Amino acid sequence: MDTDHDVIIIGGGPAGSTCATLLAREGRDVLVLERAKFPRFHIGESITAFGTDLFKDLGVYEDLKQVNYIRKRGLEFVLHDHSKKLYFPDTGRDEDGHLPWAFQMPREKLDDILMNNARRNGADVREEQAVKRVVFEGDRAVGVEWQDRTGGAEGETHRATARWILDASGQACLLNRQLPENCHNHHLLRRKVSVFGHFRGDFDFQNGDDEIHFKLCVHENGRDWAWWLPIERNLCSIGVVLSRDSMQERKGVPLEALFDEFIAGTSFLNEWVQQPGFERVGEFRTAVDYSYSSRRHVGDGWALVGDSAGFIDPVFSTGLQITFNSAFMLSKALNEILDDASRQKELLAEYDRTVDRYYRVNGTLVHLFYMAQVDPFKFENPAFMWKHIPFAGWRERLRFLYWGLRLTFKNEEQRRRMGEEVVFGNPQPGNLVAEQFLSLSRNFDKVYAREIQEAEERRAAEPVEVGA
Ligand SMILES: Cc1cc2nc3c(=O)[nH]c(=O)nc-3n(C[C@H](O)[C@H](O)[C@H](O)COP(=O)(O)OP(=O)(O)OC[C@H]3O[C@@H](n4cnc5c(N)ncnc54)[C@H](O)[C@@H]3O)c2cc1C
Repeated sequence: MDTDHDVIIIGGGPAGSTCATLLAREGRDVLVLERAKFPRFHIGESITAFGTDLFKDLGVYEDLKQVNYIRKRGLEFVLHDHSKKLYFPDTGRDEDGHLPWAFQMPREKLDDILMNNARRNGADVREEQAVKRVVFEGDRAVGVEWQDRTGGAEGETHRATARWILDASGQACLLNRQLPENCHNHHLLRRKVSVFGHFRGDFDFQNGDDEIHFKLCVHENGRDWAWWLPIERNLCSIGVVLSRDSMQERKGVPLEALFDEFIAGTSFLNEWVQQPGFERVGEFRTAVDYSYSSRRHVGDGWALVGDSAGFIDPVFSTGLQITFNSAFMLSKALNEILDDASRQKELLAEYDRTVDRYYRVNGTLVHLFYMAQVDPFKFENPAFMWKHIPFAGWRERLRFLYWGLRLTFKNEEQRRRMGEEVVFGNPQPGNLVAEQFLSLSRNFDKVYAREIQEAEERRAAEPVEVGA
């Protein structure tokens, strides 16, 4: 089949730029179409330490090190009467002898470096190009139609074809909007609203080895929480995540007022925002109903990668880790398939299974955590969790116990490593905690079957907008 390109990628965020780099580096003809003009604001500023090797592999580690100031060392849960620190796995120190740490920086900087890296590696990256739709011939995706917005919203429409179309459009979910039966709201997490902004002050954050630089501040109601994460020496990102119940209780109250109420009622944040010079930079932003997943992550001529494939609540800051892991796996598979199409079925099935596993394991973790009222102490208490997990039947209970029993034969170090891999969005094959969570995920599918169906019906009734 004659095509203009090997691969067209919709979206030049972390997923799109990573795939573009890894494909173009192998000599593929890659076109990236990005709707925005970079650098642009994006939420999701906190990464995990597992990302370091991937950045080295991409060739951006040194560039990121130069622009990054804050070093994140794990997660700190701050509840109203106690707190708990969870450091990244101490599997090795960095070249300067520091404990493992992760980059934490404004996304406009991270994403810009990743996009320029894709260009350096040979990808044709075009900004201000809004893809309107993926063109199908029968069931096969063969190309895209897009609008040039460099001169404004009414620009010319273009069309190009490729052997593979990758949807990396993030929460815009361009392809899933065309294939609505493929996408569903994540039933485990129900509706959530997040309000967030950047705040400046004379903070002078320092990078001591014991300074985690990520606080997850939990409200007394045990449902809502806020992130507090420095992203520059004197700049901090704060975001509040509210449950549907809290929103209903405070119906009609503007989101900014809800943000202020949350801060005032959370002692650490309330004290912190009283510092001299503290002020908001730019506007408040919101994200609503952002948790969902896809039934299939690949099809004939197309694949989903990053947030366009799914996203599960930001509570453990694993969105980017899952995005990078998926982008690496997909690019490797496509590079092999473009050389030898006979392996297509096997490689894509493996990608589909692995991505599904990431979202199921992460979704179950987050759901259990909300069941434990965002309290890591309850979460680590097997009796509490056993009592509060709804099981669909005895088969599901037995499966859960089976994986739990297998875990007890591992030593403490192995158990801790498996737990950490799951918490930080990087479960490896053979991880028994991940297997236990997978079995729970299938259990929850049954327990919440009716809710899933209702969500599907609601979505089917919503108008479909593509490429807005
Ligand atoms: C409230 C909230 C907080 C979060 N916090 C964290 C966190 O702390 N840590 C973390 O790891 N993750 C976090 N995330 C998730 C993280 O932001 C995402 O996982 C990550 O951005 C996914 O990267 P991506 O490349 O798939 O999508 P994106 O980064 O969204 O990139 C998609 C790109 O596609 C472009 N695009 C969209 N539509 C079109 C179109 N029609 N044509 C062309 N281009 C298009 C967009 O302009 C965008 O640049 C958070 C998410 C939310 C909602």
